[in-house]
Amino acid sequence: MEIRLDGTHYPLETLGPGRRLGIWFQGCTLACAGCMSRHTWDPAGGAPTTVSEVLARWRKALAEGADGLTVSGGEPLQQAAALAELLTGAARLRDEARRHEGSAGPRTPDLL
Ligand code: SF4
Repeated sequence: MEIRLDGTHYPLETLGPGRRLGIWFQGCTLACAGCMSRHTWDPAGGAPTTVSEVLARWRKALAEGADGLTVSGGEPLQQAAALAELLTGAARLRDEARRHEGSAGPRTPDLL
């Protein structure tokens, strides 16, 4: 599935606990007063990619010890289907990585 992003960055240590993959969505129609991310408003801005590509970045971040991911924007919910596919896939990869580490067991998505 296609997804349009402003960009990604790893490691990110300021938008949540631990070392995180930051994912900035492109496109926002909310026009909040004082928005610091106006460059993410244009839905035709940023760059198109795929959820699979972003999940490949997440898999690499997990292998490098990522603790979680942060979605920002832009407004992620304005690409709701792609966001749902991304978070579902990210949780699956996180759980697989934890099982591989021998720390299997139900985990809440607190750091996702
Ligand atoms: S990017 Fe965020 S802060 Fe800026 S207008 Fe959209 S929702 Fe509001």
